[in-house]
Amino acid sequence: MTTPTLLVAFFVCAGLVSPGVVANQLPKATNYELDITFEPEQRRLSGMARVTFAEPLSVGDTIRFYLHGEISVDSIKQSGVIVEASTRKVFYHYSYSMIANQIEFVHAGTDDSLAMDVFYSGLFNRSAARSPSDYMRIDSDGVLLRSYGYSLWFPIFLQDRSSSQRVDFSRVSLRVPSDYRCVFVGTKETERLVNGHAVSIWSAYGIDIMAVQCTAQRWEVLSEGWLSVYHLPDSASRDRAAAIRDFAESFHNRCDERLIRGRLPQQAFIMEMPEFGDISSANVTGISSSLWREFGHNPYSMFTLAHEIAHSYVHVPIDHSDPLAAFVIEGFPSYFDDLVLADILGEAWLRSKLDALEESYLSKRTTGLDRYGRKLPPEKCLDQIGFDEIGTYKDRFILTDRTSLLFNYLRVKMGADTYAAFERALFDYDRLSDQRFRNLVLTYLPGADNDLHIWLSTTEYPERFKLSNLR
Ligand SMILES: [Zn+2]
Repeated sequence: MTTPTLLVAFFVCAGLVSPGVVANQLPKATNYELDITFEPEQRRLSGMARVTFAEPLSVGDTIRFYLHGEISVDSIKQSGVIVEASTRKVFYHYSYSMIANQIEFVHAGTDDSLAMDVFYSGLFNRSAARSPSDYMRIDSDGVLLRSYGYSLWFPIFLQDRSSSQRVDFSRVSLRVPSDYRCVFVGTKETERLVNGHAVSIWSAYGIDIMAVQCTAQRWEVLSEGWLSVYHLPDSASRDRAAAIRDFAESFHNRCDERLIRGRLPQQAFIMEMPEFGDISSANVTGISSSLWREFGHNPYSMFTLAHEIAHSYVHVPIDHSDPLAAFVIEGFPSYFDDLVLADILGEAWLRSKLDALEESYLSKRTTGLDRYGRKLPPEKCLDQIGFDEIGTYKDRFILTDRTSLLFNYLRVKMGADTYAAFERALFDYDRLSDQRFRNLVLTYLPGADNDLHIWLSTTEYPERFKLSNLR
């Protein structure tokens, strides 16, 4: 097995709404081995998770972890010994149902141990408690799960709202009824039929735990080379599959050339998903059926697929508590997806897209309403939108429109060659921060301190920023 490309990006386009990021006090899980059986018709999962930690768990330590509120722990084993554990329900914002089971036990073993086995089972009913766009559930539609931040389907050693972590999944075995196919993240090692079940084995290394997802549906699979397309068995979906595959392959390659290098995955998966299932999870992209079936007819389908793919090529790591975290995580893909699309659709297309974006941005600033007349979240500076407000602002206000207008301003003011060098330098960074971004801009556009401050730290939009005054 070749060493998989580092899977880093995860983002999603669904909303996490809770106040502020906290520091995690729980033991750091470094590796998971999962063996899970899904029974979609019963809305149920059952299985085992073997969790390995960065530091040995010392005798007498109180160990705590979280699982979805409808999941109960059957038993916990440490060094082969069953341990007594208590469970209580707690509020947990980083889970779609907002309720988690907090499981706690005292490490009673005779010696320190680095791993533990958790046997658990239960249901995943749908819930709109946090947001109607939370599609997570297990039912006759299939298995529709994400991870920390969305649905806790394996033991999570992170307190609610703490910053995410990278972990390994050295072996993940997923069992579903034979008429279903399952997609995890990372590398699909094997997939075969065993006793009337489709069993697939996966691995993923160095992955952001928020980027993990697991989906199983009655899919057909179009697989060629490194890119596999999982679509529903209806003629409209089947008909679009090849076009989606071809577009995705060329768009992945264009992003790899222009944006963060070395993110082209060795395997990539594009899934047809239910409503609200437009997601980007490491090397897995989801597109909701309505857009899937219109691919090639409705340009919005292509834009959404491009946006989800672009996520993993612009995700420069940044602390969730950094003032520019939301700008980087959701603002960047909202501009750079269009910039790469402009290589296909042309500069004139990009100009008209920016014109429409500026028009709607200016109207939103004046009315406080979106184009459907719905109330928008309050106008805020780009460096005031918190990581947990991404769901509130993305695709609605400021994160998409003001970010795109800012980068276009830099592109015009710097000129083609300097801007190209700036963009290259930006995506060669291994980590970003507010200060680092500002310094980089001023390196390639000396003297723009005041304008950069206005763009990032105020809500002003002076006349000289307007597209008509830039051209
Ligand atoms: Zn997005």
